Amino acid sequence: MLIAIIGGGAAGMAAAYGAASMGAEVVIFERNEKLGKKLFISGKGRCNLTNDSDIEHHLSNVVNNPRFLYSAYHALSPSDLMRLIESTGTILKTERGGRVFPLSDKSSDILRAWKVLLDSLRVKVHIDERVHAIGKDGEKFTVDTAVGKYFFDKVIICTGGMTYQATGSTGDGYRFATKLGHHVSDLLPALVGIRANIPKNLAGLSLKNVELTVSRRDKELFREFGEMLFTHTGISGPIVLRTSSRINKEDLAEITLSLDLKPALTNETLDARLVRDFTANNNRAIKNVLPELMPKSLIPLVLEKAEIAAETPCHSLSKDVRRRLAQVVKGIEMAPIGFEDMNGAIVTSGGVSVADVNAKDMQSKIVSGLYFAGEVLDVDALTGGFNLQIAFSTGYLAGTKAAIG
Ligand SMILES: Cc1cc2nc3c(=O)[nH]c(=O)nc-3n(C[C@H](O)[C@H](O)[C@H](O)COP(=O)(O)OP(=O)(O)OC[C@H]3O[C@@H](n4cnc5c(N)ncnc54)[C@H](O)[C@@H]3O)c2cc1C
Repeated sequence: MLIAIIGGGAAGMAAAYGAASMGAEVVIFERNEKLGKKLFISGKGRCNLTNDSDIEHHLSNVVNNPRFLYSAYHALSPSDLMRLIESTGTILKTERGGRVFPLSDKSSDILRAWKVLLDSLRVKVHIDERVHAIGKDGEKFTVDTAVGKYFFDKVIICTGGMTYQATGSTGDGYRFATKLGHHVSDLLPALVGIRANIPKNLAGLSLKNVELTVSRRDKELFREFGEMLFTHTGISGPIVLRTSSRINKEDLAEITLSLDLKPALTNETLDARLVRDFTANNNRAIKNVLPELMPKSLIPLVLEKAEIAAETPCHSLSKDVRRRLAQVVKGIEMAPIGFEDMNGAIVTSGGVSVADVNAKDMQSKIVSGLYFAGEVLDVDALTGGFNLQIAFSTGYLAGTKAAIG
């Protein structure tokens, strides 16, 4: 069995390993000068390769089509993946929230582990060779590159998504899939910054332990607690990235984001805190007292929203005004106006429709012998090592099944 893997990222390497371990002869075509460029920059160069948690927890972090992934996760579970990488001598560690990294904090160690695995099975790698077209000629597949035309028994498309295009993922797989008769659902940026009209002076400010409440037409959808960051064009940081994946199909005109600066305080405890601060600073202007409660750069925005003049002495703040202030501290409203560009997104949401792919083996239901794995599929997850696990699991399943099918 001769199998072509198109794309040598996380999914492609796992697919090649899976297929070769079942005895197939495997060729990876990678357009870059080396494998795994996106994996190399993942996790800020540390590669959060998976999450040390059970399959249910992984699937609860998958935003689109989690159930499609059951077989893939059972073929190569998070613990299987960790064991496989560790079998090469690479030591892993687990951090907060179950995030798994190489002990060295170097993604290059994970790439090295995959190289050891692929070399041990004599997988052939054609680097610097971009695939331009995939076709079917009778029982065989044709793979066209600038070097020539090749013939294969099976093809696994692992070309990734559309983000960070300098890593090689420019959406070729979507074009191949469409040409071969598959439906590709809308491609949207996910795990990406959200654009909003925010005062420019806030750019660079990062907040810890805050809560973002997301509502559609005043009805709460969900909350995210953690860190966020103001940017030149809006907001970003962990809770915003997670939020983006969950609202990227919404009509943003209907969505409001409400930022609670003090989620640990109830309205009553916050009011009591304000009374205490204001009494202790009776004659001082409110703008000089609020730094005890929030970062300085946020004060003009908070006072403007609460309609309080910055110079107002604390002793002259009425109960009503204090309540208004507390309301703003617990709910700065921001209207999202869009998302940052696809190229700056961590993952692509949307892709080859899972309705056109058999979840049991990742084989196309339209072209027999053709398989898909990784981000090219319409599956995406939140941060925490889940996206790489999806790529490894779907790749491994596709590879092993293609080799025996
Ligand atoms: C900055 C950043 C940080 C991230 N950090 C994490 C993290 O820590 N943990 C996590 O779980 N996820 C992370 N992700 C997401 C994760 O990296 C991706 O979801 C994952 O790499 C997808 O794997 P893939 O193999 O499907 O695609 P890719 O890794 O993108 O690989 C696709 C490969 O196909 C090649 N290719 C494309 N078209 C062709 C063609 N026509 N011919 C030949 N080759 C081709 C590309 O060059 C590329 O090497 C991060 C993403 C980014 C952008």
